[in-house]
Amino acid sequence: MKIETCAVHAGRRIDPATGAVTPPIHLSTTFERSPEGDYPRGFSYSREDNPNRRALEECLAALEGGKQALCFSSGLAVVTAIVQGLEPGDHIIAPDDVYWGLRKVIGDVFGKWGLATSYVDMTDIDAFHAALRPNTRVVWVETPSNPLMKVTDLTAIAALSRGAGPNIVTICDGTFATPVLQRPLDCGIDMVAHSTTKYLGGHSDVIGGALITRHENYLFERARKSQKYGGSVPSPFDCWLIRRGIDTLPWRMRAHSENALRIAQYLAGHAAVETVHYPGLATHPGHKVAARQMSGFGGMLSFEVRGGRETAMGVAARCKLFLRATSLGGAHSLIEHRASIEGPDTKTPQTLLRCSIGLEHPDDLIADLEQALAG
Ligand SMILES: *Cc1c(COP(=O)(O)O)cnc(C)c1O
Repeated sequence: MKIETCAVHAGRRIDPATGAVTPPIHLSTTFERSPEGDYPRGFSYSREDNPNRRALEECLAALEGGKQALCFSSGLAVVTAIVQGLEPGDHIIAPDDVYWGLRKVIGDVFGKWGLATSYVDMTDIDAFHAALRPNTRVVWVETPSNPLMKVTDLTAIAALSRGAGPNIVTICDGTFATPVLQRPLDCGIDMVAHSTTKYLGGHSDVIGGALITRHENYLFERARKSQKYGGSVPSPFDCWLIRRGIDTLPWRMRAHSENALRIAQYLAGHAAVETVHYPGLATHPGHKVAARQMSGFGGMLSFEVRGGRETAMGVAARCKLFLRATSLGGAHSLIEHRASIEGPDTKTPQTLLRCSIGLEHPDDLIADLEQALAG
């Protein structure tokens, strides 16, 4: 099945009780036992499993080409579940520009867990290879990365990790690319993590996370326990919203990618713009790898303006269509000065603005940037 068809059909079935074509939202927290005491319909209590969550998990496993999926109450709850599965002294390798929340979970929440972490530039395969240790258990990859859109070679990372021992689990944060544009499991990566808050939900109205595995492994089983007994589960309504968003995901990703490429090309030719970071541009250092492992370059880009911090803040301030807000993946375009949200020790340039390119007409978005850049 092609991904457009899968996005509409996977995990969906006619409601047996009513014939409803659109699945009902199952708010019941508890499910009937038979006179013998078992659960003939497969559900007992909603923290453990729920029909809406199961439908979403089936859908996500099918989209990624994985064996199983687990849905969580947020993207960071996935990271938490992974870390909870590790032992004190275990070693994690993560990108030096990893989503900042992962550093917070490992450092601030689980600091006393005694994990060893190496943050390395994963686009430098030799640097990555050198960072592998006998106690490495998790290799976390994020591609394209935030906010410089750096591209990591998933096939190379998967092969090197496999060569380094059977205990390493590779996990790709696929939030920016989605399974429509990039299929990490097909590249040999063990598991994919998502913030479903972003493109999968697609409408900036629900928080969620997911973990999809290519094969059975101990970290996935521990994450399952952490979901079930740790309790970081999404509500039935949240699962329903994300599942509904996925219906249109493949077509939205195509439109996000087309719009973003047009805008990246426009910005690259603008005198007030110093650099554009978008893997779809031939000038981007990760373009070759991206062209090989992605079927489109996605809706995220960033650019650096000529001038200083105030110049960048001014451009964002003058935008009328682009909304000044964090996050990404919705229908409306967003613009954000990343350095000021990341705080004083950020490595993000003060002149950088990150955009989540939405589904508006690109001419209107370009006109908005034109007037904002004119100052
Ligand atoms: C937003 C985001 C997360 C965290 O997800 P939440 O749903 O906000 O918890 C993780 N990784 C990436 C790449 C993200 O963009």
